[in-house]
Amino acid sequence: MRERFWERVRPEKMTPEEWEALCDGCGKCCLNKLEDEETGEVALTRVACRLLDDQSCRCGQYAIRKTLVPECIQLTPATMKDVAYFMPATCAYRLIHEGKPLFWWHPLVSGDPESVHEAGVSMRGLTVPEFEVPEEDWEDYIIEEPGT
Ligand code: SF4
Ligand code: SF4
Repeated sequence: MRERFWERVRPEKMTPEEWEALCDGCGKCCLNKLEDEETGEVALTRVACRLLDDQSCRCGQYAIRKTLVPECIQLTPATMKDVAYFMPATCAYRLIHEGKPLFWWHPLVSGDPESVHEAGVSMRGLTVPEFEVPEEDWEDYIIEEPGT
């Protein structure tokens, strides 16, 4: 990966490895959300996708996730304009899309994959798997986005 590529390479010019490395491992995009049909407001819950590993905050089946969870959104430089608005506020893909810098705790900046967890930004230890909570109860699990 090129040195500090996230500060000087446009997303569409990044290599696949660089693009993947933008993910900070927070796990927040793997949470189920609730949308108010009248206001369009989106609330975050701590009910996680069945494939999310609550400790690593990574997808348990990343390579085949689209087969197991068809609704999982694949982020690409081209799709960011459509999905950035509902990504977590601290998501590196969203920040880069909005021309903002990465936070100090981002593993690319800190050099430490644990810093996202130590800063209290990730979902480590905070989620419940979606197969344990019926959908009609999800509103009892609404949370504020950690780290914001
Ligand atoms: S919210 Fe963004 S940075 Fe965090 S895990 Fe999801 S894609 Fe990665
Ligand atoms: S399939 Fe994997 S990447 Fe997609 S939402 Fe679920 S845990 Fe996250």
